Amino acid sequence: MLIDQDLHCWKRDLIELVFSPSTAANIFSIPLGVHGGVDLFHWPGTSDGQYTSKEGYDFMRLLLHRDAASSSSTAKLDPRSWKFFWASRALPRCKETCWRAICGLLPLKESLFRRHVDVDPGCGFCASERENEDHIFLQCPAAKHIWFASQLAIRVDSFTSFQAFWTAVIAMDDDEVLAMAQTVVYAIWEARNKVCFQQGELVVATVLRRVASMLEAAQVRDLARAPSVSLPAKWSKPAPGGGYHQMQL
Ligand SMILES: [Zn+2]
Repeated sequence: MLIDQDLHCWKRDLIELVFSPSTAANIFSIPLGVHGGVDLFHWPGTSDGQYTSKEGYDFMRLLLHRDAASSSSTAKLDPRSWKFFWASRALPRCKETCWRAICGLLPLKESLFRRHVDVDPGCGFCASERENEDHIFLQCPAAKHIWFASQLAIRVDSFTSFQAFWTAVIAMDDDEVLAMAQTVVYAIWEARNKVCFQQGELVVATVLRRVASMLEAAQVRDLARAPSVSLPAKWSKPAPGGGYHQMQL
């Protein structure tokens, strides 16, 4: 089980060991109920909470159907833009978090509140507005500060929504800007989770250092993946009567 019953908190070490950083961050962003209760396995598809393989199969079918239906309504970018988006040099975790934010799939407080989760819908940084994608990633003073202090030096006030911002980023057709913007979104989300769940303080310089280190890690990964340089092989005509093809370097 993932919840420490005595301390009434997530088992951070176990979760960070078992799950990817983005999945762990999503788990930590789920608030625990204020009334406590026993941590147990519960399947939401049945009234008694018991899981069966048939229930699992039906649930997966429903999920796939829902995703297919929602992808047409929540896919805010056209297929070509998405192709460009996913080809970016940013780390996979940055692209995935950013994609979830654009599609409205992050467990933001306003969204949880609408789903009747017992949580304050206020922004994790400033608490003065409801926490949704438009606010936490653009309109919050903390987000504005981070975008302007980043290497992109963008004033995001002019964008009416997170979607409009991404449409503009894609339209720039600049891979470096794209990778940087995806990494900044991830760093904002990570900083927000630290403030909300580890009682940390937002330090813009730390967020920017994190952005720089993730971009550097992506660059190192790309260099490691690049094919090693080798001299081109040249094919030569076989000698008359010879049984072998010869390759000359
Ligand atoms: Zn805010």
